[in-house]
Amino acid sequence: MNILWTGGWDSTYRLLYLLSEGKCVRPHYIKDQARLSTYFELRAMESIRRATLDYPDILRGTLLPTEVSEKSDIASVPDIHAAYNEILKQFYVGEQYMWLADYCVGRGIDNMEIGVENNPIVLEAVESTGYPYSEIFGRFDFPILSVSKLTMQTWAREKSLLPLLERSWFCHTPTRDGHPCGVCHPCEVSIKGGMGYRLPLKARVRYYLRVLPRVKALLKQFPRFYHTLYSFKHHR
Ligand SMILES: [Zn+2]
Repeated sequence: MNILWTGGWDSTYRLLYLLSEGKCVRPHYIKDQARLSTYFELRAMESIRRATLDYPDILRGTLLPTEVSEKSDIASVPDIHAAYNEILKQFYVGEQYMWLADYCVGRGIDNMEIGVENNPIVLEAVESTGYPYSEIFGRFDFPILSVSKLTMQTWAREKSLLPLLERSWFCHTPTRDGHPCGVCHPCEVSIKGGMGYRLPLKARVRYYLRVLPRVKALLKQFPRFYHTLYSFKHHR
């Protein structure tokens, strides 16, 4: 089974799930130099991979070496580019689906599993049949679109695999001391999905200051306290 493994919660869950089902799993990771989180993602995946060896009875499948590629090395396929532009005329889908489709064409993969959950845009694209959707989304499987993060957590806990899942990495813009930031999109999704406990207090404070402007207004009535929180936000 080919799976896009980002080192994040969702794709790590899917990887562990497939291994628990005794499957042979080939992970693919695409390095995006524009991303600050690459180092943390690779480190998380290495640590998870090592830890899978401690659970041979539960993770009965085979974890093949990860195919690592550079995003800039993926050759653009004109038909996919054209299909992506057609989709954009109807609604916005992230550019990553275009280059992931390019990647699948280059590798001859027609069933790449992508572990994203609860994404209405992807759901709409997957449910739209025929051209231009099939040209891009026909190459992928989205097996966990309707599985919540908390359901994944429960599954992992029951299988004694939660410590592995918790080694996953989710923040795109980590702080200088290597912690999740609390304000990037994946951090926000994690907090909303009930994963707030995985972020340090400072990151949660940043999140609440961002999403709750009224809290911020209230806090300004307490300048010293506000100043402390504000320093969390800016001295990462
Ligand atoms: Zn973040």
